[in-house]
Amino acid sequence: MAHPAHSPTAQPDLVLRNANVVTLDDWLPRASVVAVRYGMITWVGRDEDLGRTGWRAERVVDCEGRTLVPGFIDSHMHLLAYAASLRDVDCGPGAVRSIADIRRAISDRARGAPEGAWLVGRGYDDSALLERRHPTRHDLDAATSLPVRLAHSSGHACVLNSAALAMVGIGAETPDPVDGVIERDDSGEPTGLLLEMDAYLDGRIPRRTRADFEAGVRQAGERLSALGVTTVVDATPTNSVERWETFARLRLSGVPLPRITMMAGYDHLDDFIDAGMGYGFGDEHLRLGHVKIMLTATTGALHPQPDELTAMVARAHAEGFSAAIHAVEAEAVEAAARSIAEARRVRPIAFADRIEHCSECPPDVLRQVRRAGVAVSTQPAFVHHRGDRYLAGAPEDVQPWLYAMRSLLDAGVPTAAGSDAPVVEPNPMVGVAAAVTRASRNGRLVAPGQAVTPMEALRAYTLGAARVSGLGDLTGSIEVGKLADFALLDADPTAVAAEDIRRIRAAVVL
Ligand SMILES: [Zn+2]
Repeated sequence: MAHPAHSPTAQPDLVLRNANVVTLDDWLPRASVVAVRYGMITWVGRDEDLGRTGWRAERVVDCEGRTLVPGFIDSHMHLLAYAASLRDVDCGPGAVRSIADIRRAISDRARGAPEGAWLVGRGYDDSALLERRHPTRHDLDAATSLPVRLAHSSGHACVLNSAALAMVGIGAETPDPVDGVIERDDSGEPTGLLLEMDAYLDGRIPRRTRADFEAGVRQAGERLSALGVTTVVDATPTNSVERWETFARLRLSGVPLPRITMMAGYDHLDDFIDAGMGYGFGDEHLRLGHVKIMLTATTGALHPQPDELTAMVARAHAEGFSAAIHAVEAEAVEAAARSIAEARRVRPIAFADRIEHCSECPPDVLRQVRRAGVAVSTQPAFVHHRGDRYLAGAPEDVQPWLYAMRSLLDAGVPTAAGSDAPVVEPNPMVGVAAAVTRASRNGRLVAPGQAVTPMEALRAYTLGAARVSGLGDLTGSIEVGKLADFALLDADPTAVAAEDIRRIRAAVVL
C-alpha cells in the first residue's frame, strides 16, 4: 500500500506534534503526530517516525504533550437561540441566587441601555431561587423603568414588568388567550407571570436589531470555538428555507462559525423540496440534515397521534430525508420508535432516523428503540444542570432510566451527545463529566447505574455524533481522509479523576 507519508504530494501545510492524540479510530487509537494538507488529515503517526518523512511543513505546532481529540460535535442545539441568549441578561442558576440578584443584574444592564430598549433576562429557575417563587412585575419594576421580559429556563413561562405589560397591552381586562395563562392577584391585576404566552408576545415585542443579532452570532461562534466545538447540528423545529439563507449569509459575512448541519422543520418540508434542497444538500460548512418532527405528551395525550406521526415519517422518507423525532416522555419515545419502525417497513431503505432526547427510556421502551434500529441524540449535561430537579420531580419508577446512556450503549443503539443550548451551556466537558459521574449540580446522583466510561462519553460527542448526524465519513475521528477538526485539551479526560473532567479546558485548533 502506498503510504501517504512516502508520497511527494503529501507534503503537509500543518503538522501537530508532541500531542497525546486520542484518535477515536480503532485501528490506531493513540498517536502523537497529525499532518494536515488543505484542511484534511493526511497522516497520523508518532514523533519518532516524523524524521523519516522529510517534510518541511509551513507550520509545525508543538502541542507540548497536551491531549488532541477530534473537534466536538454538538448533536442537538439551537444556534440562533443560543446566540440570542448571549445578548440577554443571564438570570440562570449559575449567575443569580435570588430575586434581589435578578433585580441587580437587570438594573446594571439598564444603565447602559438606550431609551426605549427592551431588556431581556433569561434562564431564571424559581425552584433554584432563594425565595422559591417566581418574580413579579413589582420585583422587576424596582430594577428599571424600561420594559423587561424575563424568561423562565423551561421556555414555558415569563415575567413582564409593568412597563412591558402596558406596551403589549396586557391589563386586568385582558382575557387569557386560548393556549396561555395570565396569572392574576386577588384583585384581578396581572402579577406579571405569563404561562405559554411566547407566541402571543412574539408579534408584540420589537425584534432584535440586525447589529445585535450579528453580534450575538459572533459571540456564539467564539464561545463554541473556545469550548472545542467544531460542528453543531441545529435541531430547531421551525427551521425553514429562510433560516437556511440566514445561515448561508452569516457564513459569507465572515462571522466565525462551526460547521452547521441544519435540520429541516417538518412544516417547511415542501418549501425545501420546492427549492430543490434534499437531505445532505450543501457542503461541509453548511448542510441540510434530518427532518425535525415534534412529538409531545405534556397534556397526557400524544400529539401528533401515532398514525399521523407514522405518516409524517413516511412522508420524510418518501422525499429521501431521514427523520429526527423530538420525544421526551417514555410513551412518546415508544411511539416515536414504533412509527419509525412502521414507516421503514413500508419503505425498507437505510434511513438514519433519530430520536431526540429519549429522556425516559425504561427497558420495555428501550426494546422498541432497539427493534426500530433508530439512533438516539441524548443530553448528558442535563444530569448536571437539571439533575436536582429530576430527583425532586420525576416518578420513582422512571428515575433509573433518565438519560439512560449505559442502557442505550449496551443495547447497541447508536448514541450521540449534545447540549440543547441555549437550554444549557454547550460545554462538552460538562456533558462528558456528567455522563461519567451522573452527578447533579449539588453533587447528588441521577440514575447512577447509567454511568458510562470517559471514552464512551467522548465518543458520543465526536464519532458517535458524527455517525448519527450523517457526517461519519467527514469528521468525528482523527484519521486520514477526514476533515482537520481538532480540540486541544489541557488534560486527558480518559486519564484524570472523574471529578476533574468538568474543569478540563478545550480550544479548537485553528
Ligand atoms: Zn432542542
